[in-house]
Amino acid sequence: MNENLHKRLAASCRCGQVAFEASGAPIVGAICYCNDCQEAGRRFEQLPQASAVLDPDGGSNFILYRKDRVRCTKGADQLREYRLTPESSTRRVLAVCCNTPVFVNVIQGHWLTIYRSRFPDGAPPPEVRVMTKHRRPGMDLPDDIPNYAGHSGKFMWRLLTAWIAMGFRIPRIAYGTTPWVGPLPLA
Ligand SMILES: [Zn+2]
Ligand SMILES: [Zn+2]
Repeated sequence: MNENLHKRLAASCRCGQVAFEASGAPIVGAICYCNDCQEAGRRFEQLPQASAVLDPDGGSNFILYRKDRVRCTKGADQLREYRLTPESSTRRVLAVCCNTPVFVNVIQGHWLTIYRSRFPDGAPPPEVRVMTKHRRPGMDLPDDIPNYAGHSGKFMWRLLTAWIAMGFRIPRIAYGTTPWVGPLPLA
C-alpha cells in the first residue's frame, strides 16, 4: 500500500480563516493553460487585496485530489462560488475573507482541483503542463516536465484510475455553494 495514503496536507486561504485538509496522495499535480483558467485568474487578480493567481507565464498551478479526500475544516461560510458564464458547470470557489481563489469544482467530475499555492511549501510538485496550446503567445515553456498541447494521456489515466478506485462515485461538494454576489472585474 502506498505510504502516502494516510498523509494529510493542510490547505488554507491567504489570511487563514478558511482551511482544508486533503488526505492521501493527490491524483496528479498539473499546470493548466486553458482559456478559462487564464480568464478566471485574470479576473480574480483584480479583486481588492488579491495576490497573483496565475504564474508569470499564465499557467494555473493545481493539485488534483479525489473529492472524497478533501474536507473543509474551517471557514466554509467565507466561500463563494463564481462561474465564468451562468450556464457553466465549473464552479470556481474563492475565500472572500481575503479574495483568494481556493479550488475549481467541475460538478460532474470526481476530482477537486485545488490551487497549489493554497498548500504549504513542499506540497506535491506539478507533473504535467496541459492545454499549452492556449498559452500566451511567445511563451516558451521549460521541458522539466511533459508539456501537452491539449489533455495528456497521463493526466486522463490518473483521473480514470482514481475514479475506478472510488467505485465510479461522484461525491457532491457541499461547501462553497453560496454564489458570488456582485460584479467581478472583467479581465
Ligand atoms: Zn482568507
Ligand atoms: Zn484550465
